[in-house]
Amino acid sequence: MSTMDIRIYGDSILRKLSKPVDSFDEQLMAVAEKMYEIMFEADGIGLAAPQVGVSKAFLVIGMPVEDEEPERLFFANPVILESRGEDSFEEGCLSVPDIRADVIRPEWIKLKYQDIHGKEHTLETDGLLARVLQHEIDHLNGILFVDRLTPARKSLLKNDLQKLAKKGAKSEADLA
Ligand SMILES: [Zn+2]
Repeated sequence: MSTMDIRIYGDSILRKLSKPVDSFDEQLMAVAEKMYEIMFEADGIGLAAPQVGVSKAFLVIGMPVEDEEPERLFFANPVILESRGEDSFEEGCLSVPDIRADVIRPEWIKLKYQDIHGKEHTLETDGLLARVLQHEIDHLNGILFVDRLTPARKSLLKNDLQKLAKKGAKSEADLA
């Protein structure tokens, strides 16, 4: 396995459409394990495979649980089937460090996905989990939360994003 580092805004892998997961094997489990490690280390609650340089459609989530270790969740090939409502919430992203902004998204979603063994499930959820899932599923499609800001808000962040993009392109070159 090559080095897995968090890829930063400006790295082209964050803009690619990830490929479906088709083998649910030990390799997948190993990458997922490593992703949990990287995510908890960085105090994140969600991490999508493209963020660590793996252009595959899966993601991990560590849902905060009071007084306990976060609950580990894994989603492969997730597809949102239905969504309802509207909610504004301040988001951040391990690939877009030091930038936080309110993003409007549906508050309730129904999705289908496969677990780490390839078994299919459907899930209806809202609140924080729905929020994190939508953010991470966007990553699988090459979309970042800053793409979902109003043009006015985005233009305020323009300089910060340009600085990040230089860093991101450099990290990409270093890893290549
Ligand atoms: Zn993110």
